[in-house]
Amino acid sequence: MTVKVIKIGEDILGANEEKARANRKRLDTHGVLTVNIMSSPGAGKTSLILSTINQMKEKVKIAVIEGDVASSVDAEKVSEMGIPVVQINTEGGCHLDANMVESALNSLPLEDTELLLIENVGNLICPNEFALGEHRRVMISSLPEGDDKPLKYPAMFADSDAVLLNKIDLQPYLDYDVNAFKKVVTGLNPDVIILPVSCKTGEGMEAWFSWLESGVKNKKER
Ligand code: MG
Repeated sequence: MTVKVIKIGEDILGANEEKARANRKRLDTHGVLTVNIMSSPGAGKTSLILSTINQMKEKVKIAVIEGDVASSVDAEKVSEMGIPVVQINTEGGCHLDANMVESALNSLPLEDTELLLIENVGNLICPNEFALGEHRRVMISSLPEGDDKPLKYPAMFADSDAVLLNKIDLQPYLDYDVNAFKKVVTGLNPDVIILPVSCKTGEGMEAWFSWLESGVKNKKER
């Protein structure tokens, strides 16, 4: 007797890809550049989003999707800045998926948005496996996590368009080898842009803002 094997993982990922394509098409229709921001908990996703809003909100129409296992503390901070935001609580789920993002898109003013920032659930293991419909993937790694993270969680770095090395202001207090970090990341992903930044002091943030602004501009011209 032959045994039928159902590969759940492949089915789930296949269905997610299809939904992600539909989300991307919808975002394209409205000309919304969408950025999926991933990192471990505490690396600075929310800080990056808040700094970006602060710098760019007069020039670019921004909306935000916040993903967390529980709570709405991050979405409240974004909302206080007058930016449309939806909080997704995954209730234990360790990543966002395209279905969740589709629901969030239904509650956002896409016709009046140029840049959508999606804060994924803090996790270095699986968020990269689930496309959301985004145009860019950004990975944040921070100095206190250690310079070995790309060796331990290579897929997250290999799949990103930009890697932000946050909390660079802590360099004098930590044994962190920035060059070793860059070498491993570039080995995994030769086309990646690596930007050392500090959301706290503003160091290096100009490069991030220009990268994002040129993405928004290209999206509009298309
Ligand atoms: Mg956060």
